[in-house]
Amino acid sequence: MSNTGQDTLQKFIFENAAVRGELIDISATWREVQTRQHYPAPVRKLLGEMVAAAALLSANLKFNGSIIMQIHGDGPVRLLVVECDAELRLRATAKLAPDAVIGDDATLTDLLHAHGKGRFIITLDPADKLPGQQPYQGIVPLDGGDVATVIENYMLRSEQLDTKLWLAADEQSSRGLLLQKLPLHGGTAEAAPITADEALETWNRAVILGSTLKQEELLNTTIEVLMQRLFWEETIRVFDPVHPSFHCSCSREKVGNMLQMLGREEVESVLAEQGQVAINCDFCGQHYAYDAVDCAQLFITPSEALLPGSEAKH
Ligand SMILES: [Zn+2]
Repeated sequence: MSNTGQDTLQKFIFENAAVRGELIDISATWREVQTRQHYPAPVRKLLGEMVAAAALLSANLKFNGSIIMQIHGDGPVRLLVVECDAELRLRATAKLAPDAVIGDDATLTDLLHAHGKGRFIITLDPADKLPGQQPYQGIVPLDGGDVATVIENYMLRSEQLDTKLWLAADEQSSRGLLLQKLPLHGGTAEAAPITADEALETWNRAVILGSTLKQEELLNTTIEVLMQRLFWEETIRVFDPVHPSFHCSCSREKVGNMLQMLGREEVESVLAEQGQVAINCDFCGQHYAYDAVDCAQLFITPSEALLPGSEAKH
């Protein structure tokens, strides 16, 4: 089913061991992200890997809401951002510095951490927020030379979870493998008790198997074949696959809210200068235009709406 264009995320656990894993092929979603945005190859690789990683982490969380993964950079790349909701619908974008010069072999450090001020940020935004509730946000210095290492370090530092990631992305493909060592006491009742030594042994073996995975192999192999190739000697329980997809949550209503927050004065000054207020969505390229009438309606007050001459009926 690898040529249908449908993306797949496959969860699995090592039977009788406190290790879980996920394999993902998110290539179709990743190509969709790129249809309206063209990045230099090193930026494309980083953003593509973040797309795979965001879906892997999102599927791993028992959390109803969106996960937003960002790297804020101090070099030629200012921002990489991926948003993934609870149904594994993703969008992603990158912002480059206006004068960015990016060589073909630029590393994550060159692009985002040139002066040591890069930041990795994960935001958990609940779908059903209570009034006044703020999203949870974890911010750490950019620690690691590639996307996988940055996330592994974050997971260990912020979540106290041993996590290993293998990620690869190019123009056509984005795939990844995640392994995670579970706390021993979190097991299910029917599982046979295992000792800490046994758990560690399985974890180490799984990580060694994962480490045999080359970038080229990850880019060019279906996840069914990878699963077989990597773990054929292990006793693995595989769950029903799930299917990530591209989706942008922008809307005219949200753009309107943003303009209202900007304020009447600011909006009217843009209107006076340009004849309309034009906004393009950074994620999907959707164009939103507000003329003088649209802008006036954004700032209509309840009392104005009831003035004689409005459509109120008597
Ligand atoms: Zn959009």
